[in-house]
Amino acid sequence: MSTNLAGLIEDLANGNARVVDLTVPLSPETPVIALPEMFAQSPPLSVEQISRYDDAGPAWYWNTLTLGEHTGTHFDAPAHWVTGSDLPDNATDTIPPSQLIAPACVLDFSAESEADADFLLEPEHIEAWEAAHGAIPAGSWVLFRTDWSKNTSPGAFFNADEDGPHTPGPSAAAVRLLAEERDVLGFGVETVGTDAGQAGGFDPPFPCHNIMHGAGKFGLASLANLDQLPPTGALVFAAPLKIVDGSGSPVRVLAIVSG
Ligand code: MN
Repeated sequence: MSTNLAGLIEDLANGNARVVDLTVPLSPETPVIALPEMFAQSPPLSVEQISRYDDAGPAWYWNTLTLGEHTGTHFDAPAHWVTGSDLPDNATDTIPPSQLIAPACVLDFSAESEADADFLLEPEHIEAWEAAHGAIPAGSWVLFRTDWSKNTSPGAFFNADEDGPHTPGPSAAAVRLLAEERDVLGFGVETVGTDAGQAGGFDPPFPCHNIMHGAGKFGLASLANLDQLPPTGALVFAAPLKIVDGSGSPVRVLAIVSG
């Protein structure tokens, strides 16, 4: 093979490669998306202790978790959206494992997102990034760096007013470019969902869900530490729990980067 796995193992041991954790802590306080009130809501994480070195279990500690599949840092499978509902291998248990490890292109629009919470990634932004860093390869994650994960208070993270949430995301045209022309693996964000806060009013509504999942692509939401990744060259491990017919799952997302 052309790759040198022994070299990678050695690089990880001696610090010439390192692991970056792209995951937020998962607790009952971890923010979960809020839908308009006519729709059913996904609960936050709740934790019930089974035992903790006590009468219920003198030598062991364990908990029961209750949570929605789309809680905290999580993976969106194509089955999450109606447009992806009839695709083959569209659920967390049937996605081929070869698609759970992939290179990443990190598009830094943190300054634009700080200046405008409703910043939309457009095709011209993607093309400008490619002019600087090269074409986005098929099968890559596109990770949209906004530094939004640094808004750790729920108020700042959701940034909602009477018009709903104001958070950055991709336009429908940008999603079409990535899904249909670049044939990316999926789109990852630092916000609570892969679409912009105002995307319920876009055409189509929630284009990153509608178009990406309709094309069999994935999503990653509530990522962190994208500011520690290079524009290209990171290798991302994002493997959802193997839930039978799952629409997604919480996930520990890790990236390997050079030195
Ligand atoms: Mn989701």
